[in-house]
Amino acid sequence: MNVSDDSVTPMMAQYLEIKAQNPGALLFYRLGDFYEMFFDDAVAAAEALDITLTQRGFHNGKPIALCGVPYHAAEGYLLTLIRKGFRVAIAEQMEDPAEAKKRGSKSVVKRDVVRLVTPGTLTEDSLLEARRHNYLVAFADVREDSALAWVDISTGELRVMPCPEVRLGPELARLAPREVLVSEARERDLALLVTESGAALTALSRGSFDSTSAEQRLCKLWNVGSLAAFGNFGRAEVAAMGGLVDYLDLTQRGKLPLLRPPLRESANGAMQIDASTRRNLEITQALSGGRDGSLLAAVDRTATAAGARLLERRLSSPSRDLGVIHHRLEAVRFLLEQSRLREDLRADLRRVPDMDRALSRLALDRGGPRDLAAIRAGLKQAERIAARMQAVPPLLADAAQTLVGHGALIDLLDDALIAEPPLLARDGGYIAAGFDTDLDETRRLRDEGRGVIAQMQAEYIALSGVQSLKIKHNNVLGYFIETTTLHAEKMFAAPLSETFIHRQTTANQVRFTTLPLNEIETKILNAGNRALEIEKRHYEALRAAILEQSGPIGAAARGLAEIDLSGAFADLAAAENWVEPRVDDSRAFMVTGGRHPVVERALKKQGGGAFVANDCALTEQTTPAIWLLTGPNMAGKSTFLRQNALIALLAQAGSFVPAASAHIGLVSQLFSRVGASDDLARGRSTFMVEMVETAAILNQADDRALVILDEIGRGTATYDGLSIAWATMEHLHETNRCRALFATHYHEMTALSAKLEGVENATVTVKEWDGEVIFLHEVKKGAADRSYGVQVARLAGLPATVIERAKVVLEALESGEREGGSRQKALIDDLPLFRAMPAPAPKAVAKDSKVVAALKDVLPDELTPIEALRLVYTLKDLL
Ligand code: ADP
Repeated sequence: MNVSDDSVTPMMAQYLEIKAQNPGALLFYRLGDFYEMFFDDAVAAAEALDITLTQRGFHNGKPIALCGVPYHAAEGYLLTLIRKGFRVAIAEQMEDPAEAKKRGSKSVVKRDVVRLVTPGTLTEDSLLEARRHNYLVAFADVREDSALAWVDISTGELRVMPCPEVRLGPELARLAPREVLVSEARERDLALLVTESGAALTALSRGSFDSTSAEQRLCKLWNVGSLAAFGNFGRAEVAAMGGLVDYLDLTQRGKLPLLRPPLRESANGAMQIDASTRRNLEITQALSGGRDGSLLAAVDRTATAAGARLLERRLSSPSRDLGVIHHRLEAVRFLLEQSRLREDLRADLRRVPDMDRALSRLALDRGGPRDLAAIRAGLKQAERIAARMQAVPPLLADAAQTLVGHGALIDLLDDALIAEPPLLARDGGYIAAGFDTDLDETRRLRDEGRGVIAQMQAEYIALSGVQSLKIKHNNVLGYFIETTTLHAEKMFAAPLSETFIHRQTTANQVRFTTLPLNEIETKILNAGNRALEIEKRHYEALRAAILEQSGPIGAAARGLAEIDLSGAFADLAAAENWVEPRVDDSRAFMVTGGRHPVVERALKKQGGGAFVANDCALTEQTTPAIWLLTGPNMAGKSTFLRQNALIALLAQAGSFVPAASAHIGLVSQLFSRVGASDDLARGRSTFMVEMVETAAILNQADDRALVILDEIGRGTATYDGLSIAWATMEHLHETNRCRALFATHYHEMTALSAKLEGVENATVTVKEWDGEVIFLHEVKKGAADRSYGVQVARLAGLPATVIERAKVVLEALESGEREGGSRQKALIDDLPLFRAMPAPAPKAVAKDSKVVAALKDVLPDELTPIEALRLVYTLKDLL
């Protein structure tokens, strides 16, 4: 674009220059009280925000499209734009417009982009979900190695781990980031993977991921000589962290958020759960998309937002470290037993504000007095909570340690701040009286001045005799005297005209000033400005004092979250009658009276029947140990499978479990797959998806994995499906040698238990009563004798003709099976194709029969029930 084109105004030239420096982002261009957008940006934003598109002036002979949003309401619009996948560059006015005017009438106010708003770099409370993390992830590869680093800039937490490319998908599924950074060289091949995880993809230049300069940047950031201070990081890990920091520098325009020193996660520290398993088990998100209906929603009893975020993290990556798991369970047991203490703690926790996010806003200088107050309130509550933590188990004791020692900062904040400070520092009024004598004195002057003005009004009324005379204030004129036009005449005439100086005439009013009023105004203004200045100085000092302590404050916030989560798990266990699982390094998977936490809750809510608890006993005597579960549709097979997976997951996350007892040998990997027809079509053929996913399990599951397969093979023709299911089962047994629950409707597979030592049959029982099926939802050892599919179809309302026909086919097939395959095939060939015609009734009723005659004069509406019954008997006799 030709910036020096004569037709371009200086402002438009500035706009175009800033726009060119920020490709790929919508430009919010600050103009007075609005953010304006021009050209294509305006068209896109007007549509996305549903606001009016207008035109102003011309550029290169074409009208300029324009739309704008008021700056004080910008956050809401930003949120919409970010949700719709836009990135927004915010260009602010960098000087007072008066300054620009001084430089000449054509001079434009200096503007610059102060921030690039992207999905992964949000900090505003209104743009964030309080109880969820907002992760920004960077993936880097350096020669053979690759690594993942992630940060939640709203809390400053930074983590890193080596991550082979094949693990990238599962890790993205675990973290559910909002935005993923990759090198531009990898953009093309990683695009699909990243967008499938639901995150926005951002490509950075290779330089951002250069590990050597990254190391220097990181050392400078944490002020250390070498990163070894925090752990032994590989080049790829350093590169990934470097990419993150570089991007933050770019988007925050040099104002780096508070970044805690990196924590290294080991790939072996957590139970591995891949993307489809997460989706399928609805761990943090229900299949329908929201949080409702997920495991997370069903178990969340945390009292604080930070506790809720910790819970999400724990459920997303249950531990594989027995020591860690036992410490967590011990803390839950302790708080379960000490119910009084638990109640007190939870009451205290409810009053803990989100210190992490307040801290991060202060670091980015986007905070205000209320963030200072949040830190004060949080630390105060922390000390109260610490005082309650006597003789507690190690996990809680460690957490409690972080909560003390903040006395000096609390005292400072207490002395300095009023009880409920305003949101913004701009208008002052948050520093407490008595904190600074200079400030107190200045405020007194200012307030006295205001008092003097009130007196002046009375004097001028007396002097002029105008009762309605008022002294008012606005931002343009400052203080002024106002009378109605009617009374103004008097003031223009001597002698009053000597005192009152005319300033402005409006439609109904005339405004004056006086010399004493001017003087006092200057005094008030000066004092007011000075007071603001002093307050601002204190604000900065308090902010600095807090940031200086950001390490210990962050630790306290984590300690509180840990206590909150232990208390929440204990509360859940108490309310729902959950038990402590025994977790060890055996191969056991023994659950008695297990329940599905989400289904049970749903049943309770609907007021339906009670949930039927079931046992699952994959004994450690045989390795592998596999249950083959048969039973009709709707019997509860999927529920049973999933509940056992969830019990393992909850146990290793450190929670009690919904069961009467549970003994779980450490699970290294959790896999869950559902046959194709339950899965949503996602481009590829669903059967293909099913097979790809099954292949992933068979290739990856080790002997400590827990595998849940639900109706695998269903997505294809019967014999294909059966053979695939059969071979899958054999592979799990012979090669993976893991623990597995395998649900199928192929009865033929029950024969496998005789062949494979580690396989046992189990079935979900149903009762047949009067041709109907009653679901008992009870899981028992042994094979189901038949599938009841036909009965289920009847329940579903299939037409009676179809049901009858299906019965005939079934019988034919079943007798064929007994008599050998060839006969069966012959029978299938013999069976005419499915007939939708109503089958002829066994005995046709001729039109002129006696029955017809008997019915001819009957008026159904007038029959009593008894008469109707009698009629049926009569008719029956006539047949
Ligand atoms: P399947 O996989 O055998 O087709 P599902 O596991 O989907 O059956 O269960 C069907 C429905 O039966 C569930 O939605 C639930 O309402 C109910 N259900 C399943 N298991 C139980 C149980 N143990 N107790 C009570 N109701 C259950």
